Amino acid sequence: MVAVASERIRGLDSALSEIDARRDEIVAFARDLIRFPTVNPPGEAYRPCAEFFGERLRRRGFDVTYVRAEGAPGDNDKYPRINVVCRREGSRPGPCVHFNGHLDVVQTGAGWTVDPFEGLVRDGKLYGRGACDMKGGIAAAVVAVEALIDSGTDLPGALEISGTVDEESGGYGGVAYLAERGWFSKPRVDHVIIPEPLNVDRVCIGHRGVWWAEIETLGRIAHGSMPFLGDSAIRHMSAVLEKFEHALYPALAARRSDMPVVPDGARQSTMNVNSIHGGQAESFEGLPAPCVADSCRIVIDRRFLIEETLAEVQGEVKALLDGLSHDRPNFRYKMRELFHVEPVMADRNGPVASATAKAIREVLGRDAKIVCSPGTYDQKHVDRIGRLKDCIAYGPGVLDLAHQPDEWVGIQDMVDSAKVMALAAIDLLTRA
Ligand SMILES: [Zn+2]
Repeated sequence: MVAVASERIRGLDSALSEIDARRDEIVAFARDLIRFPTVNPPGEAYRPCAEFFGERLRRRGFDVTYVRAEGAPGDNDKYPRINVVCRREGSRPGPCVHFNGHLDVVQTGAGWTVDPFEGLVRDGKLYGRGACDMKGGIAAAVVAVEALIDSGTDLPGALEISGTVDEESGGYGGVAYLAERGWFSKPRVDHVIIPEPLNVDRVCIGHRGVWWAEIETLGRIAHGSMPFLGDSAIRHMSAVLEKFEHALYPALAARRSDMPVVPDGARQSTMNVNSIHGGQAESFEGLPAPCVADSCRIVIDRRFLIEETLAEVQGEVKALLDGLSHDRPNFRYKMRELFHVEPVMADRNGPVASATAKAIREVLGRDAKIVCSPGTYDQKHVDRIGRLKDCIAYGPGVLDLAHQPDEWVGIQDMVDSAKVMALAAIDLLTRA
């Protein structure tokens, strides 16, 4: 027993020093990934990026499968939704640890001072669109796994690494598509780590739920000089917004969650009015014609807690609108759900969360923080479709930098998180 234990520790030490020695390799691989402009939408460069990722792991002895999400939103011959899953069997049967990263990035937007697809290195940081969210995390996971294999540590079970697409647009052509086909379920997979940028010392066990809906108020068109002959949908909408201000927002703010959501402002229910449009269209150049608006629409983005149900969230808004139908003359509305995502939260004492927290303590010498994300990510599909509960997000990258101009990831954070992922993987594989 002692001999086995000390052999294992030697293996761990050698894996960790292998990762230190591969610092430049982590940076180079992350930079190579950044150079594929995998912007979503529309889904640029998915195929070459997935193939670059898959061929690297094929050379390292992984079985590599490319899965095109045929029929998924946005999938066509010009922009195929190409996912890649790589698997390597260990020395004997055992659990499977899976690392999943999304290859897509959001548009660059304005305000960059460096080329977003060059992968510039400066002052210990790697810059580029996706450096933080989440190509830096993918590179750290891949090099962690490679170093583990090369360290000669006896590894039972299996290691999997996937590069998936469309996370930024809901994951339906990526993790959801694969989960529906059994790629994220037992007995194939037991533990999942998603190296999203949640900060190098935090274990993210889940996220709040989402409900998006469109609300339309209805009026009657008339000449703008005689508005009393019509019925303004915009004034009806202002009554809706007034209800939100005085009844809904205070109620949401009072609802604190036991979920450890960060930042602290997101540790309650929130709602954003994503857009508002009423009356005449905005996209013309001339002068407007005087009309009373017969339609006004808003889109709401309601984020809810694990303590709330979707039916309660929907019912709360509907009750306010029905109240207006009762109290306000001629108030008519339509409400249409755009989509919803249920909240998810893994067990903070479950295998993957506890192994990762322990590894953070060993590598960084401080306690891990257990957190939940304010927004959703692909864990929802692993949990809901794959029915696999032992899933977390853990990776380098500062959460607040995601989707910003001049996005970067710290090189030391990539190295440290690679060590954490390697230690967590070996712990999970050898626990049974
Ligand atoms: Zn992401």
